Amino acid sequence: MSTTRFRAVERAHAKRPISATAPEERMDRLYAKHVFDREKMFRYLTRETYDALVAVIQEGSPLDRSIADSVAEGMRRWATEMGVTHYTHWFQPLTGGTAEKHESFLEYDRKGGVMEEFSGKVLIQQEPDASSFPNGGIRNTFEARGYTAWDASSPVFIIDDTLCIPTIFISYTGESLDYKAPLLRALRAVDKAATAVCHYFNPEVRSVCAYLGIEQEYFLVDADVAGARPDLLLTGRTLMGHEAARNQQLEDHYFGSIPRRVMEFMKDLEVRAVQLGIPVKTRHNEVAPAQFELAPIYEECNLAVDHNMILMSLMREVAAEHGFRVLLHEKPFKGINGSGKHCNWSLGTNEGTLLFSPGKTANDQLRYLTFVVNTLMAVYHHNGLLKASIMSATNAHRLGANEAPPAIISSFLGQELSSMLDAIENSTDDSLINSTTKQGLSLSLPQIPEIQIDNTDRNRTSPFAFTGNRFEFRAVGSEANTATAMIVLNTAMAQQLRHFQADVDKLLGEGHELQQAILSVLRGYIRECKPIRFEGNGYSEEWKAEALRRGLDCETSCPLIFDAYLKKESVAMFEEVGVMTLPELQARNEVKWDTYTKKIQIEARVLGDLAVNHIIPIATEYQHRLAEGVRNMTKVLGREEAEQLCADQLRIIREIAGHTTEISELSYQLVGARKVANQIESEREKAIAYHDTVESLFDPIRHHIDKLELIVDDRLWTLPKYRELLEI
Ligand code: ADP
Ligand code: MG
Repeated sequence: MSTTRFRAVERAHAKRPISATAPEERMDRLYAKHVFDREKMFRYLTRETYDALVAVIQEGSPLDRSIADSVAEGMRRWATEMGVTHYTHWFQPLTGGTAEKHESFLEYDRKGGVMEEFSGKVLIQQEPDASSFPNGGIRNTFEARGYTAWDASSPVFIIDDTLCIPTIFISYTGESLDYKAPLLRALRAVDKAATAVCHYFNPEVRSVCAYLGIEQEYFLVDADVAGARPDLLLTGRTLMGHEAARNQQLEDHYFGSIPRRVMEFMKDLEVRAVQLGIPVKTRHNEVAPAQFELAPIYEECNLAVDHNMILMSLMREVAAEHGFRVLLHEKPFKGINGSGKHCNWSLGTNEGTLLFSPGKTANDQLRYLTFVVNTLMAVYHHNGLLKASIMSATNAHRLGANEAPPAIISSFLGQELSSMLDAIENSTDDSLINSTTKQGLSLSLPQIPEIQIDNTDRNRTSPFAFTGNRFEFRAVGSEANTATAMIVLNTAMAQQLRHFQADVDKLLGEGHELQQAILSVLRGYIRECKPIRFEGNGYSEEWKAEALRRGLDCETSCPLIFDAYLKKESVAMFEEVGVMTLPELQARNEVKWDTYTKKIQIEARVLGDLAVNHIIPIATEYQHRLAEGVRNMTKVLGREEAEQLCADQLRIIREIAGHTTEISELSYQLVGARKVANQIESEREKAIAYHDTVESLFDPIRHHIDKLELIVDDRLWTLPKYRELLEI
């Protein structure tokens, strides 16, 4: 018997040559070898061009055409020396992936031949034929083409023979068609608002930067074994499969020793990542079998987002070279942990102060409190929107499951910070203010301990946890472009800080002392945003009921969660801070609903196909074999004795009939539900129908298939089972 499955498994276990080990070069020498960073700018540009470009990068202003040509020429010289022949504008359309269209440097030299050229014009701007990228109707409404423009704050890099230029993608009328443009706007907004607030504490601060450290979780499966699972190949997750007898219950995989074959993959990946300037640092096994994590050191938010997008495509590529398939889906396997992408977020000043780090002086402590409390306020007021920012058809499977944050946003602060906020809440000005000195007031704030990063007790069930000097947004999905979450978080923070400044200034106008004004505004905020603070077990049923009582967003249906983007308060927030307009938000939601529908549609097709064309025929074949056996026994032994001896076979024959009948019936319903949903015009309504009537059939169908997997002869079952998929 040589089925697809057995051939696949045999191949997988054959000894394969491991690709060459990483070169003996040191990581610090390889770092950014493929990036046009400051050092290369300095070497390949004139002093004048270098200074002008650095200024553009620092100020975030557009690159002037007068220097663009010489920047481009320097880049081309460097790239050519590195063996590069092509260039591309690299952007992040609303598909969730990245896009590129390669052009060679080749141009006519106007003397009858050709030469290599790269002008400032094509560096700065291009017009990709982008009509097939999702735009949610913007481009039709405004009859505008899209163009890409270089984001000079993210350096140019080389992949294979191509110079990649990170760009934003916008329509001619200025609406963003990607993730980068609004992210840059949000980052600028939070910089401006936070810098203004910093001036209460330190007038010297010139700018504030949002930092992001991304922990990327993923699964590795053998490429050949995965190749025999159409559901994994086409949807990124298993739509069926009974749990393996042994998976993560022994908890022996987490931080366990990394299998050699995986180690080879990681080493190669790290070398390639480091050459692209991605500061990868941490690697370890995750909780589930075949699950791992990779985390670069935190960087400026925009760069960290770009690097994560590059990293995900590198992972796919390097995995293939090692005979693996990397699964970035949030929930590839039922019954074992899913994958997330923890986003460690903080704000820091140009002088190097991390704003979520408690300081030593009363002034520092007040600054620390100000930023922590304002973050809580932002998360409280926009908790539904933050949830929408991380929600997707795929992440929906992970959230609310027993190992991931629930579909409710709350914040965990840890005992020390919590009791400190409580103390301030219950204080009066008189109890905190000691005396008035020349510098202002002398305060006796509750003592904040020094940063104890390893000491912050970690509540793993919290979707937005304070971890010493940063917040960790854990609900973000492993497959997501983190820009969506970062756009919302930074915009919400920018808006909140603006409101804080207005509130404090009002009190100052009424003649209050600065510290007193700040404390009194914070005291009010601490009371107001209390419902967002939750220190308990986020997985528990009691929390769901409690969160509902507290008025937090508890919606669980993905298409309905997206509505949060169009709520009055959300639109007002995006418009006030200048990050997105109503038409942009509407367009994006159209894309979100459409993407949701398509993902469920594909899953429904694959599930239907597997159920009807694989599972039922296999189960029926086994059933026939059993029946044949019973018939033969009857011939030999007579009916009465055969029935007695074949009781088990007869029971299984009936059980199979029960399951296959159910699968047929449900699959038929699935097709019907799709047909009805497909008739719906509105993207929102269609997505809701797909959620309520199509997706809701997946689990019942799967239930019967998984039961069959347990009773059908193993030799007949063509799909690799969980124990084979998770064995690497
Ligand atoms: P853990 O799993 O314990 O949370 P990891 O070491 O896996 O920690 O990842 C933590 C991530 O947080 C890393 O990317 C790290 O660089 C990042 N990080 C550390 N400090 C900050 C900070 N102040 N702001 C943003 N990210 C940070
Ligand atoms: Mg970690």
